[in-house]
Amino acid sequence: MNMSTLDRAASDTEGPMLEPPDRVLSTLDRDGKRRWLYPRLAKGRWWRRRRALAYVLMVIFVIVPYLKVDGRPVLRLDIAARQFTVWGETFLPTDTLLLALLILSVFVTIVLFTAVTGRVWCGWACPQTVYMEFLFRPLDRLFEGTVGKGGTPKRELSLPLQAARLLVYVLLNMFLAHTFLAYFVGPEKLALWIRSSPWEHPLGFLVMITTTGLLTYDFYFFREQTCLIACPYGRFQSVMLDRHSLIVAYDHTRGEPRAKGRHKNRHSWLLSQRTSPETTSGAPALPVIGDCVDCYQCVRVCPTGIDIRDGLQMECINCTQCIDACDEVMHRVGLPPGLIRYSSQSALEGGRPRWLRARTLIYPLILIALLTGFGFSLSTRRGLDVRVVRGKGAPFVNYQPGRVLNNFYVRIVSRTHATRRYDLAILRPADARLEIVEPELLEVPPADSVLAPIRIDFPTWITFGDGQETVELRVSDDVGNERTVNFRLVGPKQ
Ligand code: SF4
Ligand code: SF4
Repeated sequence: MNMSTLDRAASDTEGPMLEPPDRVLSTLDRDGKRRWLYPRLAKGRWWRRRRALAYVLMVIFVIVPYLKVDGRPVLRLDIAARQFTVWGETFLPTDTLLLALLILSVFVTIVLFTAVTGRVWCGWACPQTVYMEFLFRPLDRLFEGTVGKGGTPKRELSLPLQAARLLVYVLLNMFLAHTFLAYFVGPEKLALWIRSSPWEHPLGFLVMITTTGLLTYDFYFFREQTCLIACPYGRFQSVMLDRHSLIVAYDHTRGEPRAKGRHKNRHSWLLSQRTSPETTSGAPALPVIGDCVDCYQCVRVCPTGIDIRDGLQMECINCTQCIDACDEVMHRVGLPPGLIRYSSQSALEGGRPRWLRARTLIYPLILIALLTGFGFSLSTRRGLDVRVVRGKGAPFVNYQPGRVLNNFYVRIVSRTHATRRYDLAILRPADARLEIVEPELLEVPPADSVLAPIRIDFPTWITFGDGQETVELRVSDDVGNERTVNFRLVGPKQ
């Protein structure tokens, strides 16, 4: 039957389905469906080291909220009180310079660390990798068994077992969410919240539930895609790495051309593969082959589903699983390990390692400057900060003939670790009188700040050539902390 004109037109318009030239993402099939990755586990020396570090990091994450230095938390990010405590030092929002220097120092440290050691953070210390590879994938293997020859787990889970696995995920993530919350509210308040009804602390409960949900979604469903799609760090690596940075790399020169087959009894294997019966000298011509036996073990163990032999890739989190897998293969076929190893692009091309280069010199200098600035600002930081801001409304009130009133707010920031009572006194002009509107506000809790309204009452004759006069206010506590601030009184021009 002939194709109708309409069919032909439709087919011309739609055209054939375009196939992507390559896999766009290792977790997507060509038709756009999710490709679930079931990496095999290579239990080599790097994996053992990473596992030891992962367990240490997990323990650190859980215990840090409980640790104290001189009675103060080692790390507390109290957003509600707008206070950050790091190693017992409390930072307030007024510590803008210190916080800026601290954040910049952390940023430059990451850049420097990446320039030297590549993505060591991703493979060894990032919480996503640590919990995915050393908590949740082992849990999967417990339920589903190890990955079989077909690249999928040995057991297919029944519905109740799937539900049981999900429940364990939720419980573990709930524990992680509670620990996470402890960094913000402290373990004491968290314990109180756990024992009381959620209605008494709805916000905290909402944060915990949301965090549990997000973590479960991440580890149960999204998995390695966090590294591939969501995390910006991998995308920045091309600017942070250079040819001398440490990377997990396949030795192309040694491995290629790859050839399937056992390399043990290499000579007889090579003879069986010869391409021409003899050379000019009469000896059999042997094919030139590299050490890669094309066994795909490095691909099967890769948690991000890539082939390290394709070169440096954004998806590689430097987890070293391919090193362990390949070393095992090399051992079996009687070849030296290290076909995949920690190296650098330059070293793989025969260059010598260069530790001293522009970025490894400039970044440390910037870091030293930042840390020096931070250390200096921290050591010269006073126990007390005072700022005066003008009150709302009219700049002055001529409340009786010859007398004027100005309204102000005094912001007192106390960085001491005890409650302090502050005194206010006007040093000059002598004829100005101070009225503290709410004296009880001048008792400031540890590492806190208050905004206390004050009034200054003065005779008009004090000033007022140009209608202004400087006033000097002293704020002091009973342990010798003292600050003097100057600000302007305004009144009618004479
Ligand atoms: S390529 Fe190797 S180091 Fe990179 S993510 Fe895959 S297994 Fe890990
Ligand atoms: S594990 Fe080693 S030998 Fe096997 S394919 Fe990968 S690089 Fe080649």
